[in-house]
Amino acid sequence: MGWSFVEERVAVDLIEAYMAMVALLAGMVVGSFLNVVIHRLPAGESLVAPGSHCPKCGHPVRWYHNVPVIGWLLLGGRCYDCGTRIPLRYPLIESLTGAGFLVAYLVFGVRPELIVAWGFLAALIAVAFIDLDHFIIPNRIVLPGAVIGVVASLALHPERWWEYLLAGLGAAGFLLIIALLWPGGMGAGDIKLALMMGFVLGRGVLVAMFLSFLVGGLVGIALLALKLKGRKDRIPFGPYLALGAATGILAGQQLLDSYLSLYG
Ligand SMILES: [Zn+2]
Repeated sequence: MGWSFVEERVAVDLIEAYMAMVALLAGMVVGSFLNVVIHRLPAGESLVAPGSHCPKCGHPVRWYHNVPVIGWLLLGGRCYDCGTRIPLRYPLIESLTGAGFLVAYLVFGVRPELIVAWGFLAALIAVAFIDLDHFIIPNRIVLPGAVIGVVASLALHPERWWEYLLAGLGAAGFLLIIALLWPGGMGAGDIKLALMMGFVLGRGVLVAMFLSFLVGGLVGIALLALKLKGRKDRIPFGPYLALGAATGILAGQQLLDSYLSLYG
């Protein structure tokens, strides 16, 4: 009664495809919650009550319009009751989180590391958009993030405990030195975010920091050159740290390996 090799292969592929779909949908649902976090946490509002409502007319959002991405498409990007535009950012954050969760599943498979990666990506997305909007990185995200991150890393890799501690303290210390040398550039929030990044990424934090400064620097230069920002304008660094960190957890090992292989 055994399955043939081909039948087994097909069954495995179907399970893989199903799991990938579950990861994508889980990410979109979490992304929908992140929209609430990004909107309400900086204002000190409750994350659970009241339920989703239009900021203009106050009408509660019907559950079927609250389905990630689909709801926005069904509504044509407008409130059903008053026609106010719903920013494209909402479905974009849902799609971004969905894509991140899917890639993390493809990288880690069903292992404890996947849960760490999902939590980490969710925290990074929330931090990036809150920093873009308000120039703050909330302690309520990065402090629990750092504690959970270091506990998870030490539990998963007890033999490399020193690597994670060194990565967190090193990354935070590096940004602290920059903040002391150039006051006004780097904030305390960036330093705490770097601590969380190192605690989760270990040696991968090198890749994350390098990419953050590379992309942040290039975008900063472009914004100045195009006169979209002046020398005195503040440019939040959190989104670049988040981008570097997300790349670090999803592709850090490959990037580090291919870099090291250049030197044989
Ligand atoms: Zn409305």
